[in-house]
Amino acid sequence: MFVAHLPAAYLAVRAIRPDASRTVMAAILAGSVLPDLDLLWFYLVDARQHHHHDYLTHKPLVWALLALAGWARGSAIAVGVAAGALLHMMLDSIAGQITWGWPFTTWAATLVVVPATRDWWVASFLLHWTFAVEIAICTAASVVWFVSGKRI
Ligand SMILES: [Zn+2]
Repeated sequence: MFVAHLPAAYLAVRAIRPDASRTVMAAILAGSVLPDLDLLWFYLVDARQHHHHDYLTHKPLVWALLALAGWARGSAIAVGVAAGALLHMMLDSIAGQITWGWPFTTWAATLVVVPATRDWWVASFLLHWTFAVEIAICTAASVVWFVSGKRI
């Protein structure tokens, strides 16, 4: 997923916990994009040697442990960040490979395979129907945000 992590998280919170506090909403929204900060490492340090889904930031167990620790300490922020990140993992699983069983297995499967139809892989994703779904999510989140009395 390219652009819909944040709006998808916003929609999820509005649907599941419409009474969520601003703090919880902000934590979930932050968590929904936090895993992709590994792209800085991917481009600036790792020189694109490993797919960024192979980094710890894209391992669901890491976020599940954060959720557990946050729950144990009564931290709604930690639980919110972890929930947002786990939603990120679910959405990345649609057209990307996430190793849900890591560290016990490296098995991963994608729900939808995006074929390499263009020389530049990004163009292949942008021209695939799954990107239209992302645009629909962004549009829906925009509509909900505009008609909602709650801005965040
Ligand atoms: Zn990601």
